[in-house]
Amino acid sequence: MRAVAAMLRLVLLVPWAAGLNFTYHHQLEMETFLRGVEEQHPGLAHLHSVGRSVRGRNLWVLVLGRCPTKHRIGIPEFKYIANMHGDETVGRELLLHLIQFLVDKDQQDPVITKLLDNTRIHIMPSMNPDGFEATKIPNCFFSKGRYNMNHKDLNRNFPDVFESNGVQTQPETEAVMKWIQNETFVLSANLHGGALVASYPFDNSYSDTVTTERYSATQDDDVFKYLAKSYASHHATMSRGISCSTPNVESFPGGITNGYAWYPLKGGMQDYNYVWGQCFEITLELSCCKYPPEGKLKQFWNDNRASLIEYIKQVHLGVKGQVFDGSGKPIPNAIVEAEGRQHVCPYKTNKHGEYYLLLLPGKYKINATVPGVPSKLKQLDIPDGTANLSAFRLDFTFPDFIQTPKELLCPTEPLYQISSSTAFRPTLLLLPLTTLLHAVLE
Ligand SMILES: [Zn+2]
Repeated sequence: MRAVAAMLRLVLLVPWAAGLNFTYHHQLEMETFLRGVEEQHPGLAHLHSVGRSVRGRNLWVLVLGRCPTKHRIGIPEFKYIANMHGDETVGRELLLHLIQFLVDKDQQDPVITKLLDNTRIHIMPSMNPDGFEATKIPNCFFSKGRYNMNHKDLNRNFPDVFESNGVQTQPETEAVMKWIQNETFVLSANLHGGALVASYPFDNSYSDTVTTERYSATQDDDVFKYLAKSYASHHATMSRGISCSTPNVESFPGGITNGYAWYPLKGGMQDYNYVWGQCFEITLELSCCKYPPEGKLKQFWNDNRASLIEYIKQVHLGVKGQVFDGSGKPIPNAIVEAEGRQHVCPYKTNKHGEYYLLLLPGKYKINATVPGVPSKLKQLDIPDGTANLSAFRLDFTFPDFIQTPKELLCPTEPLYQISSSTAFRPTLLLLPLTTLLHAVLE
Protein backbone atom coordinates (compact mmCIF):
# COMPACT_ATOMS: atom_id res chain seq x y z
CA MET A 1 0.00 0.00 0.00
CA ARG A 2 2.82 2.32 1.00
CA ALA A 3 4.69 1.49 -2.20
CA VAL A 4 1.59 2.29 -4.26
CA ALA A 5 1.18 5.62 -2.46
CA ALA A 6 4.85 6.47 -3.03
CA MET A 7 4.54 5.53 -6.70
CA LEU A 8 1.41 7.67 -7.06
CA ARG A 9 3.18 10.61 -5.49
CA LEU A 10 6.10 10.16 -7.85
CA VAL A 11 3.78 10.01 -10.86
CA LEU A 12 2.00 13.17 -9.73
CA LEU A 13 5.33 14.93 -9.33
CA VAL A 14 6.78 13.90 -12.68
CA PRO A 15 5.63 16.96 -14.64
CA TRP A 16 7.06 19.17 -11.95
CA ALA A 17 10.27 17.18 -11.43
CA ALA A 18 10.90 17.32 -15.15
CA GLY A 19 10.98 21.13 -14.91
CA LEU A 20 8.33 23.72 -15.52
CA ASN A 21 7.29 23.93 -19.15
CA PHE A 22 6.73 27.17 -21.02
CA THR A 23 3.03 26.46 -21.42
CA TYR A 24 -0.06 27.92 -19.79
CA HIS A 25 -0.92 26.25 -16.51
CA HIS A 26 -4.62 26.03 -15.75
CA GLN A 27 -5.87 25.93 -12.17
CA LEU A 28 -5.35 22.21 -11.59
CA GLU A 29 -1.90 22.15 -13.19
CA MET A 30 -0.94 25.25 -11.26
CA GLU A 31 -2.07 23.66 -8.00
CA THR A 32 -0.11 20.49 -8.79
CA PHE A 33 3.01 22.52 -9.47
CA LEU A 34 2.65 24.63 -6.30
CA ARG A 35 1.95 21.55 -4.15
CA GLY A 36 5.00 19.85 -5.66
CA VAL A 37 7.22 22.83 -4.76
CA GLU A 38 5.94 22.84 -1.19
CA GLU A 39 6.45 19.10 -0.84
CA GLN A 40 9.97 19.20 -2.24
CA HIS A 41 11.03 22.25 -0.18
CA PRO A 42 9.25 21.98 3.18
CA GLY A 43 11.60 24.35 5.02
CA LEU A 44 11.55 26.94 2.26
CA ALA A 45 8.08 26.93 0.69
CA HIS A 46 4.63 27.16 2.21
CA LEU A 47 1.43 27.00 0.16
CA HIS A 48 -1.83 28.43 1.42
CA SER A 49 -5.04 29.87 0.05
CA VAL A 50 -6.06 33.38 1.13
CA GLY A 51 -9.65 32.93 -0.03
CA ARG A 52 -11.82 31.81 -2.92
CA SER A 53 -13.03 33.30 -6.17
CA VAL A 54 -16.74 33.73 -7.03
CA ARG A 55 -16.67 30.22 -8.55
CA GLY A 56 -14.95 28.80 -5.48
CA ARG A 57 -11.44 28.48 -6.91
CA ASN A 58 -8.64 28.89 -4.36
CA LEU A 59 -6.54 32.04 -4.44
CA TRP A 60 -3.19 30.34 -3.91
CA VAL A 61 -0.17 32.01 -2.40
CA LEU A 62 3.22 30.32 -2.24
CA VAL A 63 5.48 31.82 0.42
CA LEU A 64 9.25 31.44 0.17
CA GLY A 65 11.77 32.17 2.92
CA ARG A 66 13.68 30.56 5.75
CA CYS A 67 10.58 30.56 7.91
CA PRO A 68 7.84 30.50 5.28
CA THR A 69 4.94 29.88 7.67
CA LYS A 70 5.34 32.99 9.79
CA HIS A 71 6.76 36.49 10.05
CA ARG A 72 10.12 36.94 11.75
CA ILE A 73 11.17 40.24 13.34
CA GLY A 74 13.38 42.24 10.98
CA ILE A 75 12.48 40.18 7.90
CA PRO A 76 10.41 42.31 5.48
CA GLU A 77 7.42 40.81 3.68
CA PHE A 78 7.32 41.14 -0.11
CA LYS A 79 4.57 40.15 -2.55
CA TYR A 80 3.89 39.65 -6.25
CA ILE A 81 0.32 39.34 -7.53
CA ALA A 82 -0.51 38.44 -11.14
CA ASN A 83 -3.52 37.79 -13.34
CA MET A 84 -6.01 40.02 -11.47
CA HIS A 85 -7.31 40.65 -14.97
CA GLY A 86 -7.98 37.07 -16.01
CA ASP A 87 -7.11 37.61 -19.68
CA GLU A 88 -3.68 39.12 -18.88
CA THR A 89 -1.72 35.92 -18.63
CA VAL A 90 2.02 36.57 -18.93
CA GLY A 91 2.50 37.51 -15.25
CA ARG A 92 0.78 34.32 -14.14
CA GLU A 93 3.34 32.13 -15.92
CA LEU A 94 6.27 34.42 -15.04
CA LEU A 95 5.50 33.99 -11.34
CA LEU A 96 5.45 30.19 -11.66
CA HIS A 97 8.86 30.36 -13.35
CA LEU A 98 10.08 32.76 -10.69
CA ILE A 99 9.12 30.23 -8.00
CA GLN A 100 10.97 27.48 -9.86
CA PHE A 101 14.01 29.73 -10.32
CA LEU A 102 14.17 30.76 -6.64
CA VAL A 103 13.92 27.22 -5.29
CA ASP A 104 16.46 25.95 -7.85
CA LYS A 105 18.99 28.68 -7.06
CA ASP A 106 18.67 28.46 -3.29
CA GLN A 107 22.00 27.24 -1.84
CA GLN A 108 23.48 27.43 -5.37
CA ASP A 109 23.53 31.16 -6.06
CA PRO A 110 24.84 33.28 -3.13
CA VAL A 111 22.63 36.31 -3.93
CA ILE A 112 19.41 34.29 -4.19
CA THR A 113 20.36 32.36 -1.05
CA LYS A 114 20.87 35.61 0.87
CA LEU A 115 17.68 37.09 -0.59
CA LEU A 116 15.78 34.08 0.78
CA ASP A 117 17.65 34.35 4.12
CA ASN A 118 16.59 37.99 4.56
CA THR A 119 13.17 38.25 2.88
CA ARG A 120 9.79 36.51 3.06
CA ILE A 121 8.45 36.42 -0.50
CA HIS A 122 4.72 35.86 -1.14
CA ILE A 123 3.68 34.91 -4.66
CA MET A 124 0.06 34.87 -5.89
CA PRO A 125 0.14 33.71 -9.54
CA SER A 126 -3.57 34.37 -10.06
CA MET A 127 -5.94 36.75 -8.29
CA ASN A 128 -8.65 36.05 -10.86
CA PRO A 129 -8.57 32.32 -11.66
CA ASP A 130 -12.21 32.42 -12.87
CA GLY A 131 -11.42 35.08 -15.47
CA PHE A 132 -8.42 33.08 -16.68
CA GLU A 133 -10.45 29.88 -17.07
CA ALA A 134 -13.24 31.82 -18.82
CA THR A 135 -10.86 33.12 -21.49
CA LYS A 136 -11.16 30.24 -23.93
CA ILE A 137 -9.51 31.83 -26.95
CA PRO A 138 -6.20 33.61 -26.37
CA ASN A 139 -6.51 37.18 -27.60
CA CYS A 140 -4.07 40.08 -27.59
CA PHE A 141 -6.81 42.57 -26.83
CA PHE A 142 -9.61 43.04 -24.35
CA SER A 143 -11.89 40.12 -23.52
CA LYS A 144 -14.53 39.43 -20.88
CA GLY A 145 -12.02 37.28 -19.00
CA ARG A 146 -10.65 40.56 -17.65
CA TYR A 147 -13.47 40.58 -15.11
CA ASN A 148 -14.33 38.22 -12.28
CA MET A 149 -17.47 36.07 -12.52
CA ASN A 150 -19.64 38.94 -11.27
CA HIS A 151 -18.39 40.99 -14.26
CA LYS A 152 -16.42 43.30 -11.98
CA ASP A 153 -12.99 44.76 -12.71
CA LEU A 154 -10.93 43.82 -9.64
CA ASN A 155 -8.52 46.70 -10.25
CA ARG A 156 -11.41 49.16 -9.76
CA ASN A 157 -12.80 47.33 -6.74
CA PHE A 158 -10.73 48.61 -3.79
CA PRO A 159 -11.57 51.52 -1.47
CA ASP A 160 -10.35 54.75 -3.05
CA VAL A 161 -8.53 57.47 -1.17
CA PHE A 162 -9.90 60.31 -3.30
CA GLU A 163 -13.55 59.57 -4.03
CA SER A 164 -16.34 57.18 -3.12
CA ASN A 165 -15.99 54.00 -5.09
CA GLY A 166 -19.57 52.80 -4.74
CA VAL A 167 -18.85 49.26 -5.94
CA GLN A 168 -19.62 46.06 -4.11
CA THR A 169 -16.43 44.51 -2.81
CA GLN A 170 -15.82 41.21 -4.59
CA PRO A 171 -14.69 37.99 -2.84
CA GLU A 172 -11.29 38.17 -4.57
CA THR A 173 -10.78 41.78 -3.44
CA GLU A 174 -11.99 41.00 0.07
CA ALA A 175 -9.49 38.12 0.31
CA VAL A 176 -6.58 40.29 -0.82
CA MET A 177 -7.56 43.13 1.55
CA LYS A 178 -7.66 40.70 4.49
CA TRP A 179 -4.32 39.24 3.45
CA ILE A 180 -2.78 42.74 3.29
CA GLN A 181 -4.10 43.56 6.77
CA ASN A 182 -2.74 40.30 8.20
CA GLU A 183 0.85 40.68 6.96
CA THR A 184 3.41 43.45 7.34
CA PHE A 185 3.92 43.91 3.59
CA VAL A 186 6.54 46.49 2.68
CA LEU A 187 6.85 46.23 -1.08
CA SER A 188 4.73 44.71 -3.83
CA ALA A 189 4.06 44.61 -7.56
CA ASN A 190 0.93 43.83 -9.47
CA LEU A 191 1.54 42.16 -12.87
CA HIS A 192 -0.64 43.05 -15.87
CA GLY A 193 -0.55 43.05 -19.68
CA GLY A 194 -1.65 45.19 -22.61
CA ALA A 195 1.27 47.67 -22.42
CA LEU A 196 4.96 47.72 -21.56
CA VAL A 197 5.57 50.11 -18.68
CA ALA A 198 6.05 50.30 -14.90
CA SER A 199 3.32 52.51 -13.43
CA TYR A 200 3.34 53.93 -9.90
CA PRO A 201 0.82 55.67 -7.57
CA PHE A 202 -1.29 57.57 -7.44
CA ASP A 203 -3.76 56.21 -10.00
CA ASN A 204 -6.37 58.72 -8.90
CA SER A 205 -6.39 62.27 -7.64
CA TYR A 206 -8.48 64.84 -5.90
CA SER A 207 -9.08 67.59 -8.45
CA ASP A 208 -6.99 70.16 -6.58
CA THR A 209 -3.94 67.90 -6.33
CA VAL A 210 -3.41 67.59 -10.07
CA THR A 211 -0.49 69.50 -11.47
CA THR A 212 -0.54 71.05 -14.90
CA GLU A 213 1.21 67.91 -16.17
CA ARG A 214 -1.74 65.79 -14.99
CA TYR A 215 0.44 64.07 -12.42
CA SER A 216 -0.75 62.77 -9.05
CA ALA A 217 2.27 62.47 -6.76
CA THR A 218 2.48 60.63 -3.44
CA GLN A 219 4.61 61.87 -0.53
CA ASP A 220 7.15 59.25 -1.67
CA ASP A 221 7.32 60.18 -5.34
CA ASP A 222 11.14 59.89 -5.46
CA VAL A 223 10.99 56.35 -4.04
CA PHE A 224 8.23 55.27 -6.43
CA LYS A 225 10.09 56.62 -9.46
CA TYR A 226 13.19 54.75 -8.33
CA LEU A 227 11.22 51.52 -7.77
CA ALA A 228 9.60 51.69 -11.20
CA LYS A 229 12.99 52.43 -12.77
CA SER A 230 14.61 49.54 -10.96
CA TYR A 231 12.18 47.21 -12.78
CA ALA A 232 12.24 48.95 -16.16
CA SER A 233 16.02 49.33 -16.33
CA HIS A 234 16.70 45.61 -15.74
CA HIS A 235 14.09 44.55 -18.29
CA ALA A 236 15.23 43.69 -21.82
CA THR A 237 13.17 46.43 -23.53
CA MET A 238 10.88 48.27 -21.09
CA SER A 239 13.19 51.25 -20.53
CA ARG A 240 12.83 52.21 -24.20
CA GLY A 241 9.33 53.35 -23.25
CA ILE A 242 7.81 52.36 -26.56
CA SER A 243 4.06 52.62 -27.02
CA CYS A 244 2.34 49.36 -28.08
CA SER A 245 -0.04 51.10 -30.47
CA THR A 246 2.57 53.26 -32.17
CA PRO A 247 5.91 51.44 -32.13
CA ASN A 248 8.97 53.69 -32.61
CA VAL A 249 7.21 56.39 -30.61
CA GLU A 250 8.51 56.83 -27.08
CA SER A 251 5.47 57.27 -24.84
CA PHE A 252 6.94 56.47 -21.45
CA PRO A 253 10.37 58.04 -20.87
CA GLY A 254 12.55 55.44 -19.15
CA GLY A 255 9.69 52.91 -19.31
CA ILE A 256 7.89 54.36 -16.29
CA THR A 257 4.81 56.51 -15.70
CA ASN A 258 2.74 57.98 -12.92
CA GLY A 259 -0.56 56.05 -12.97
CA TYR A 260 -2.77 59.12 -13.06
CA ALA A 261 -0.64 60.82 -15.71
CA TRP A 262 -1.19 57.77 -17.94
CA TYR A 263 -4.92 57.51 -17.24
CA PRO A 264 -6.88 58.13 -14.04
CA LEU A 265 -8.69 55.26 -12.38
CA LYS A 266 -10.44 54.80 -9.05
CA GLY A 267 -10.44 51.78 -6.78
CA GLY A 268 -7.05 50.50 -7.96
CA MET A 269 -4.98 48.06 -5.94
CA GLN A 270 -1.71 50.02 -5.89
CA ASP A 271 -3.24 53.13 -4.28
CA TYR A 272 -4.98 50.89 -1.72
CA ASN A 273 -1.69 49.19 -0.79
CA TYR A 274 0.09 52.51 -0.34
CA VAL A 275 -2.63 54.25 1.66
CA TRP A 276 -4.15 51.45 3.74
CA GLY A 277 -1.62 48.60 3.54
CA GLN A 278 1.58 50.52 4.42
CA CYS A 279 2.94 48.73 1.36
CA PHE A 280 4.52 50.39 -1.67
CA GLU A 281 3.04 48.76 -4.78
CA ILE A 282 3.64 49.44 -8.45
CA THR A 283 1.79 48.07 -11.48
CA LEU A 284 3.84 46.26 -14.10
CA GLU A 285 2.47 46.08 -17.64
CA LEU A 286 4.56 43.30 -19.15
CA SER A 287 3.31 42.56 -22.65
CA CYS A 288 1.65 44.45 -25.49
CA CYS A 289 -0.36 41.29 -26.15
CA LYS A 290 -2.54 40.42 -23.17
CA TYR A 291 -2.70 36.67 -23.85
CA PRO A 292 0.21 35.79 -26.16
CA PRO A 293 0.86 32.35 -27.69
CA GLU A 294 2.72 29.86 -25.49
CA GLY A 295 5.69 29.96 -27.83
CA LYS A 296 6.46 33.48 -26.60
CA LEU A 297 6.52 32.63 -22.89
CA LYS A 298 10.20 31.68 -22.76
CA GLN A 299 11.17 35.05 -24.24
CA PHE A 300 9.00 36.85 -21.68
CA TRP A 301 10.76 34.97 -18.89
CA ASN A 302 14.19 35.87 -20.29
CA ASP A 303 13.16 39.51 -20.66
CA ASN A 304 11.80 39.79 -17.09
CA ARG A 305 13.91 37.46 -14.95
CA ALA A 306 16.55 40.01 -13.87
CA SER A 307 13.89 42.66 -13.18
CA LEU A 308 11.77 40.32 -11.07
CA ILE A 309 14.77 39.55 -8.84
CA GLU A 310 16.10 43.11 -8.74
CA TYR A 311 12.72 44.45 -7.71
CA ILE A 312 12.47 42.06 -4.71
CA LYS A 313 15.84 43.39 -3.46
CA GLN A 314 14.32 46.87 -3.15
CA VAL A 315 12.34 45.73 -0.10
CA HIS A 316 15.63 46.34 1.77
CA LEU A 317 15.74 50.04 0.98
CA GLY A 318 15.55 52.61 3.75
CA VAL A 319 15.21 52.04 7.46
CA LYS A 320 13.56 49.50 9.75
CA GLY A 321 13.40 48.91 13.47
CA GLN A 322 11.30 48.48 16.57
CA VAL A 323 9.71 50.75 19.14
CA PHE A 324 10.05 49.67 22.80
CA ASP A 325 8.87 50.81 26.22
CA GLY A 326 11.20 51.20 29.22
CA SER A 327 11.07 47.50 30.03
CA GLY A 328 12.02 46.48 26.50
CA LYS A 329 8.49 45.46 25.54
CA PRO A 330 7.56 46.31 21.92
CA ILE A 331 4.93 49.02 21.40
CA PRO A 332 2.39 48.26 18.64
CA ASN A 333 0.54 51.06 16.81
CA ALA A 334 3.25 53.66 17.40
CA ILE A 335 3.45 56.05 14.44
CA VAL A 336 6.87 56.09 12.77
CA GLU A 337 7.38 58.29 9.72
CA ALA A 338 10.04 60.37 7.99
CA GLU A 339 9.76 64.13 8.37
CA GLY A 340 7.99 65.66 5.37
CA ARG A 341 6.53 62.28 4.34
CA GLN A 342 3.55 61.88 6.64
CA HIS A 343 1.10 59.46 5.09
CA VAL A 344 -2.61 60.14 4.88
CA CYS A 345 -3.13 57.07 7.06
CA PRO A 346 -0.08 57.31 9.34
CA TYR A 347 2.24 54.28 9.07
CA LYS A 348 2.30 52.49 12.41
CA THR A 349 4.19 49.66 14.10
CA ASN A 350 2.89 46.08 13.97
CA LYS A 351 2.25 43.84 16.99
CA HIS A 352 6.01 43.31 17.39
CA GLY A 353 6.55 47.09 17.52
CA GLU A 354 8.18 46.92 14.08
CA TYR A 355 8.22 49.51 11.33
CA TYR A 356 9.67 49.58 7.81
CA LEU A 357 10.12 52.78 5.77
CA LEU A 358 11.28 52.61 2.17
CA LEU A 359 13.58 55.59 1.60
CA LEU A 360 16.37 56.31 -0.85
CA PRO A 361 19.87 56.70 0.63
CA GLY A 362 20.36 60.14 2.20
CA LYS A 363 19.78 62.27 5.31
CA TYR A 364 16.40 61.99 7.05
CA LYS A 365 14.67 62.81 10.31
CA ILE A 366 12.59 59.90 11.56
CA ASN A 367 9.80 60.69 13.99
CA ALA A 368 8.26 58.15 16.41
CA THR A 369 5.04 59.02 18.23
CA VAL A 370 3.18 57.27 21.04
CA PRO A 371 0.43 58.92 23.09
CA GLY A 372 1.09 60.59 26.40
CA VAL A 373 4.82 61.17 26.04
CA PRO A 374 6.85 63.55 23.86
CA SER A 375 7.58 62.13 20.43
CA LYS A 376 11.15 61.31 19.42
CA LEU A 377 12.98 62.64 16.40
CA LYS A 378 16.18 60.98 15.22
CA GLN A 379 18.38 62.29 12.47
CA LEU A 380 20.29 59.78 10.39
CA ASP A 381 22.14 59.16 7.18
CA ILE A 382 20.54 56.15 5.51
CA PRO A 383 22.88 53.98 3.43
CA ASP A 384 21.75 51.76 0.54
CA GLY A 385 20.51 48.64 2.30
CA THR A 386 19.92 46.75 -0.93
CA ALA A 387 23.67 46.11 -1.31
CA ASN A 388 23.75 43.68 1.62
CA LEU A 389 20.02 42.93 1.50
CA SER A 390 19.16 44.45 4.85
CA ALA A 391 17.77 47.93 5.56
CA PHE A 392 19.47 50.21 8.10
CA ARG A 393 18.25 49.48 11.63
CA LEU A 394 17.01 52.21 13.95
CA ASP A 395 15.12 51.46 17.18
CA PHE A 396 13.25 53.84 19.48
CA THR A 397 12.72 53.51 23.24
CA PHE A 398 10.11 55.38 25.28
CA PRO A 399 11.16 54.77 28.93
CA ASP A 400 8.17 56.64 30.39
CA PHE A 401 5.52 55.03 28.25
CA ILE A 402 3.14 52.82 30.21
CA GLN A 403 -0.04 52.08 28.27
CA THR A 404 -0.53 50.26 24.99
CA PRO A 405 -1.98 52.45 22.24
CA LYS A 406 -5.32 51.31 20.85
CA GLU A 407 -5.33 50.16 17.27
CA LEU A 408 -5.63 53.04 14.84
CA LEU A 409 -8.23 52.31 12.23
CA CYS A 410 -7.94 54.38 9.13
CA PRO A 411 -11.45 54.87 7.70
CA THR A 412 -12.05 53.31 4.30
CA GLU A 413 -13.95 56.31 3.01
CA PRO A 414 -12.22 58.83 0.72
CA LEU A 415 -9.61 60.38 2.98
CA TYR A 416 -8.93 63.39 0.80
CA GLN A 417 -12.51 64.58 1.14
CA ILE A 418 -12.85 64.66 4.91
CA SER A 419 -12.75 68.45 4.81
CA SER A 420 -15.70 70.13 3.10
CA SER A 421 -13.34 72.76 1.69
CA THR A 422 -12.42 72.34 -1.94
CA ALA A 423 -9.38 74.56 -1.61
CA PHE A 424 -7.06 72.30 0.40
CA ARG A 425 -4.26 70.17 -0.90
CA PRO A 426 -3.19 66.80 0.57
CA THR A 427 -0.22 68.32 2.38
CA LEU A 428 -2.59 70.64 4.20
CA LEU A 429 -4.83 67.74 5.15
CA LEU A 430 -2.03 65.79 6.77
CA LEU A 431 -1.82 67.85 9.92
CA PRO A 432 -5.50 67.84 10.91
CA LEU A 433 -5.89 64.17 9.98
CA THR A 434 -2.83 63.13 11.98
CA THR A 435 -4.12 65.18 14.92
CA LEU A 436 -7.51 63.48 14.57
CA LEU A 437 -5.92 60.05 14.62
CA HIS A 438 -3.75 60.98 17.59
CA ALA A 439 -6.88 62.05 19.40
CA VAL A 440 -8.36 58.61 18.77
CA LEU A 441 -5.33 57.14 20.56
CA GLU A 442 -6.05 58.93 23.79
ZN1 LIG B 1 -4.68 44.62 -16.27
